[in-house]
Formats: sequence, C-alpha cells, structure tokens
Amino acid sequence: MIAKFDVAVIGGGIVGLAHAWMAARRGLSVVLFDRSPRAEGATVRNFGMIWPIGQPSGELYATALRSRELWLELDEQSVVKAAQCGSLHLAHHDDEHAVLEEFSSGGTHDCRLLSVAETLTAAPIANPTGLKGSMWSPTELRVDPRVAAASIAAWLESSQGVTRHFGSPIAEVDNGNITAADGRQWQAERIIICSGSDLKTLFPEVLASSGLRLCKLQMLRTVAQTGSVHQDAHIASGLTLRHYTSFGHCPSLQKVKDRVAAQNPLLDRYGIHVMATRSDSGELILGDSHEYNDDISPFDKAEIDELILLELQKIIQLQNWTIKERWHGVYAKHSSLPIFEAEPQPNLHVCVGPGGAGMTMSFGLADRSWNRWTGK
Ligand SMILES: Cc1cc2nc3c(=O)[nH]c(=O)nc-3n(C[C@H](O)[C@H](O)[C@H](O)COP(=O)(O)OP(=O)(O)OC[C@H]3O[C@@H](n4cnc5c(N)ncnc54)[C@H](O)[C@@H]3O)c2cc1C
Repeated sequence: MIAKFDVAVIGGGIVGLAHAWMAARRGLSVVLFDRSPRAEGATVRNFGMIWPIGQPSGELYATALRSRELWLELDEQSVVKAAQCGSLHLAHHDDEHAVLEEFSSGGTHDCRLLSVAETLTAAPIANPTGLKGSMWSPTELRVDPRVAAASIAAWLESSQGVTRHFGSPIAEVDNGNITAADGRQWQAERIIICSGSDLKTLFPEVLASSGLRLCKLQMLRTVAQTGSVHQDAHIASGLTLRHYTSFGHCPSLQKVKDRVAAQNPLLDRYGIHVMATRSDSGELILGDSHEYNDDISPFDKAEIDELILLELQKIIQLQNWTIKERWHGVYAKHSSLPIFEAEPQPNLHVCVGPGGAGMTMSFGLADRSWNRWTGK
C-alpha cells in the first residue's frame, strides 16, 4: 500500500527543513526526502551566520527577525546551539565609516556606531592600522552549519513526528504522487520542492524560466587560534557594504564601490567581500567570493583564496593564518526575490533559491508561506 501524508517536502537542506518544521508545527503529517543520507549542499557549507543586518528594512528584515526567533527556539529546546554573538562591520576607510554613519542614523535596524577604542574591545582581532571605527549589531546569531542540518532533521523525526527518507533521490512528482529513482512511491496532499541548486531534476522547465542563477562561493578555515584572544562577534568588512542590499540606500556607498573598483577590479570580478567568524573549537571561518553561471568551474581558484586572505589581513590580525581546509558551495539565487516560488500544479510548490541568506531567512519565509497556505 502507498503511504499517504498531508505534506511531502523534497530536499533536506535548510529550506526543506524549515518547510517540514513549519508544517509539523501546524499539526500536519509530514514526510521529508533527501537524495543523500545527510544534507551535503549549501546548508552545510556556509558560515553559519544568521544575519538580519543584511536585510533591508520592512518585510525582509521582519522575516529575518522571525527566523531568528525560531533559531532561538531550537536553541532553547537544545536542538542546535545558536549563539547570540552579534556582528561588527569594521571600517578602515572614511567612505566606509560614512556608510555606517548613514545606515545607523536611519533608525531602521538595531545597531550603533563604536569608536576605535570600543571596536578594539569588542573585536580583539580587528587590525588597528587605519581603523576608523565600526558598527555593532546585536541581532546576529552563530550556528554550526556542519551539525545544524543533521540535528534538525533528526529532531524533526524523533520529536515532531516527521517521517524521514534520506538517501532517496526523487525522480518524479506528479499530481500528489512522488516516485523515487528506485521506483518507491508515496502520496501527499501538498508537496513542496526545496531542491536547492539542482535546477535540472524536478520541474526543470519551471526553474529554467525562473530567473534563478547559480552562484559559487570559495571558503577557508584556519587552524584553531591559541592564546587568550576571544573573538565572539561575526566580523564583516567595508567590502561587505557592497554586498548586502540593506546598505543600498546609503549615499556614500557609491564612493566605496568606486574606490574598490579602481583599487582592485578583481574584487568585483570575483565578487569578493570578506567576513570572518569563529567555530566552537576556535578556528576562524573565512570567505568569500561569488562567481555565477558559466563562470562556475568544478576547480577552485587559488587566486581567489589569495585575494580573500589579502583583504582579511587588512582588517583583522590572527596569531596563525595557517589554512586547514578549503571548500566551495553553490546556491541558487534570484535577482530580486528573497526566494523563488511557483505552483506548477495545484498544491505543488517549488521553493528554491534564497541566495546567500538561506540560513537567515528560511524559517521566516517558510512560516510566512504556511500562513498563506493554511491561514494559520
Ligand atoms: C559558502 C556559503 C556561505 C554561505 N553563508 C551563509 C550564511 O552565513 N548565512 C546565511 O544565511 N546563508 C548563507 N549561505 C546561503 C545558504 O547556505 C543557502 O541559502 C541555503 O543553504 C540554501 O538551502 P537549500 O535548502 O535551498 O539548499 P541545499 O542546502 O543545497 O539543500 C537542497 C537539498 O535538496 C536535495 N535534493 C535536491 N534535489 C533532490 C531530489 N530530486 N530528490 C531528493 N533530494 C533532492 C539535495 O540533496 C540537498 O540536500 C551561504 C552559502 C554558501 C554556499
């Protein structure tokens, strides 16, 4: 007999986990699929930064803050550790400091400027050479992406009644019927496809015309830093101001962009902006770059890693810059939507492509979708 569920979610990355959790919270029976025995996509390859400060004011910032609440709920229930570490945007140029002044005086986000002395206290690893100050935001969280997805999936199964079929590639979805590559079948009233950067397997024609682009990011991890310096807050650079849309309205941003483009065009070519955060074992996770579609190669570029390290060495000082690991991740991204959504058949939803903010936005976006679908 074919097993029947209220909801089937395909994809065990953060988008799929979010949709499965929000369905289970509403008392629905849920089955969750992933093609791998455990998630291996963008969800385990990221910084683990829950980053509301990167979202523009209004609905998107509110959605990020809703996600943050839900991460903290998982922390309270000991499902994941979500540290309330906050973030610091360091300014090493007057134009970067001007953007931070303009942004923080807007009153839209919970943040404030710190002097050079305050910055060095809050960020002991900040490079004092040329430092102009920083912007502190208390809202950011740190999770360990390498354990979070597996922990949430296990908890959904053990405590939320979700049936899990990992190691099950789904080959076809049609009118409530789900068929795995090995021929097994299930049925569901509502099906949600959260297939991440795989734009070719399920509903490829919908995804081909979606406006989604693939983006590859290179990342590095140092060896554990020894000694007494304890850096808690995530660190972002002046280069980061070019990346997140929340700073888009600041009049001085163009000056930052023009200066960076004139000083080193490779930073724009490879979409490099630099950030750093620490792991629980004291390693620093460093990144990142952005290469799109046809520029994506399976082979990582040493030149990109060198540029990332060079820019980071301008803004932070580490005892030991030895790199322990290098990797890359790929996500799907839409140019204007926080996530691409389509309903190619009744009660069949394609939810793909939260771009570089999937860890930050997915819980809030899924909660919003379930409110829309069920009215609760
Ligand atoms: C290097 C890097 C750094 C990042 N840093 C951050 C950050 O700090 N903060 C932040 O908010 N965001 C960050 N992001 C973005 C975030 O990681 C992504 O937006 C998010 O993980 C995307 O989640 P997803 O569920 O859509 O995709 P994925 O994590 O790729 O999951 C999709 C899943 O679907 C499964 N799947 C696909 N097709 C099928 C099928 N046919 N059958 C069964 N299973 C299928 C795949 O196996 C996969 O597990 C970063 C991303 C990268 C790459």
